[in-house]
Amino acid sequence: MKLYDILVIGSGMGGSMIASLNKNRDLLVLEKEQNLGGCASTFKRYGSYFNAGATTFVGYEKNHIVKDIFDKAEAALDLRESKIAIRVLQNGKTIDRVKDFEQFLEKIDKAYPNKNNRIFWEKIKELDEKFWQLQKLYYAKYSFYSYLKTLNSFLELFIKFRTYSFKSAKSFIKEVLGEISKEYQNFIDSQLLITLQTTSKDLSILSMAIGLSYPFHKVFYVNEGMGELFKELLKDVEVRKKEEVLKILKEKNYFRVITSKSEYKSLNVVLNSTIYDCARFFEDKKIKEYYKKFTFSDQSAFVLNFNLNSKEEFLHHYQIILEKNIPNTVSNSFFISLSDKEDKKMSKKALSVTISTHTKALFWEDLSFDEYKTKKEETQNFIIDSFLKHFKSVKKEDIINLSSATSKTFKRYINRNNCGGSPVTLKNIFQIPSCRTPFKGLYNIGDTVFAGQGWPGVALGVKVLNEEINE
Ligand SMILES: Cc1cc2nc3c(=O)[nH]c(=O)nc-3n(C[C@H](O)[C@H](O)[C@H](O)COP(=O)(O)OP(=O)(O)OC[C@H]3O[C@@H](n4cnc5c(N)ncnc54)[C@H](O)[C@@H]3O)c2cc1C
Repeated sequence: MKLYDILVIGSGMGGSMIASLNKNRDLLVLEKEQNLGGCASTFKRYGSYFNAGATTFVGYEKNHIVKDIFDKAEAALDLRESKIAIRVLQNGKTIDRVKDFEQFLEKIDKAYPNKNNRIFWEKIKELDEKFWQLQKLYYAKYSFYSYLKTLNSFLELFIKFRTYSFKSAKSFIKEVLGEISKEYQNFIDSQLLITLQTTSKDLSILSMAIGLSYPFHKVFYVNEGMGELFKELLKDVEVRKKEEVLKILKEKNYFRVITSKSEYKSLNVVLNSTIYDCARFFEDKKIKEYYKKFTFSDQSAFVLNFNLNSKEEFLHHYQIILEKNIPNTVSNSFFISLSDKEDKKMSKKALSVTISTHTKALFWEDLSFDEYKTKKEETQNFIIDSFLKHFKSVKKEDIINLSSATSKTFKRYINRNNCGGSPVTLKNIFQIPSCRTPFKGLYNIGDTVFAGQGWPGVALGVKVLNEEINE
């Protein structure tokens, strides 16, 4: 049996990026599904294509780690910049999140007049810009050099950001903006929930700045679906699809990986499945114990996909913020992405729409078949009704091929019922899982380890892993 240098298990953002950076080593990617990309994949149903979860591509700009990785892969990307990154609709107000600061300020001043809006949002933007200029951002454990680089990085973070790196976001809002309306607070928190899976009450000022600033970056729409990004990343990499890893046995100097189709030997294993789903692969007691110690992050997504028969001109992304929570979710907002009219694949028959909101993973696990069906329909119908109320020109009969996904659906397809890792908060910053494990040759990557979710967060983790695996 051939001995591989690196086996990457999973073709999500983390697995695909680390594989592309190491394509010159003897490397193989094993992916359970037919579609590449996990939470950011594109799938076909009813003859149409839909994005499974992620729809925005951020970080593809000069001097950004995301672009560096795609450039190294010599990826030829077909992108359109979304001139208005997100249109937020809240209680009859329209707030466009645009890259241009002055234009955005005008919008926010109109929706939420506050004499200190400029000071607040300028600081948010400035902190985010400074953060992405950090050269040594690093977090890994379990080797002398990993700890040393991490310490260095934290020192740099502290010197550059001082109190902003640990002072509470909520107190900063109060200090600068004063007592703001519940509506303005909701606006801020709903944006944070999309990017950081948590709200201002649990974050440092710096984390809030990074979370709120993503529309100040270039936000791209990916022609033909997000799945195209993975095809480009993995074009020179050996990938075996529809092959699920079932067991990993630690031998003396290598790992034996048993899949649904075959068996492999490899010196190094990079797991792109979530950190919470790793213990089950191993029989080795110490490895099992190591993975079991991570507290499950009970965050997940409820996603609707449908085709929309419409000739209307839509933006790529909207966020609707409601006054009350959506039934069976933990959010009062939902994010809508529509395919570009000019996209020949995604908009071939009608527009392809993905709507997502936040829910708890375990909530959907404990229901009987009938309860599950009823609750799923309740959430789906509520979101569709709210969508129709906000888009008056759309008729219910224009919506076809509707389906929705809960944490159970994600589990069935990509082996994860949670989405995103534990939000990095003031309290848990030193407990974030590291890409390096205490076991030689065994690594993790993806949004449940440092640095977090989305293209920029996962890419930062990939940069660290790439140093660890090539040290
Ligand atoms: C609804 C939703 C919307 C989002 N929107 C955005 C967005 O607009 N922009 C953005 O940047 N981010 C977005 N995110 C976040 C982003 O999608 C995720 O953080 C990211 O895709 C996670 O990547 P990952 O590397 O952790 O891998 P995952 O996406 O978890 O993929 C892991 C892969 O491993 C495979 N796998 C698992 N177990 C096995 C096994 N045993 N054997 C073989 N293969 C296996 C799975 O099939 C899967 O393909 C969104 C997330 C969700 C859920």
